[in-house]
Formats: sequence, structure tokens, C-alpha cells
Amino acid sequence: MCIRAQYAPLASLVPWDPSRNVITVPAELVGSFALRAVRAVLAELDIPQGEFGARCWCGEPVRLLAQVPEQRRSSEVIKRGA
Ligand SMILES: [Zn+2]
Repeated sequence: MCIRAQYAPLASLVPWDPSRNVITVPAELVGSFALRAVRAVLAELDIPQGEFGARCWCGEPVRLLAQVPEQRRSSEVIKRGA
């Protein structure tokens, strides 16, 4: 199974999930910073990285999935007693 990469809030972050082959980077990181974080995890896993991008152990580029917007936040309502 190929390695995938995704964004998650920093508080619930597990950088590497071996059961799903998923690398997670903080949602705060964008562009080249997110790519660097992914490469750092891949290097920890002893997967040789080329000069550009991030590579799976099979040689395929690792795709960084787009961040899923959190829609629940706005539905949270704080009720105050009168
Ligand atoms: Zn692969």
C-alpha cells in the first residue's frame, strides 16, 4: 500500500500511522513547509528521497491530500444562563 500524506490539527497529530501508511502534517504548514515535513518523516522511515518532491517506497510521488474544511466549528453554540 502506498504512502499518503494528509493535514490534521496540531493537537491530534500522529506524524506516522504505520497501520494505514499515512503521514500527517500540521494543518498550519503550507506548500514547501508541508512538503519538508513529509520528507522528514519519509527520511525517518529510511525511504530514499530525490532532489524534489516526496517519494513513496515504490518510487511514486506521495500526494499531499487537500485539507478538509472543518464545518462543525460554526455550529458550536455557547449558551449562557440568564
Ligand atoms: Zn507507493
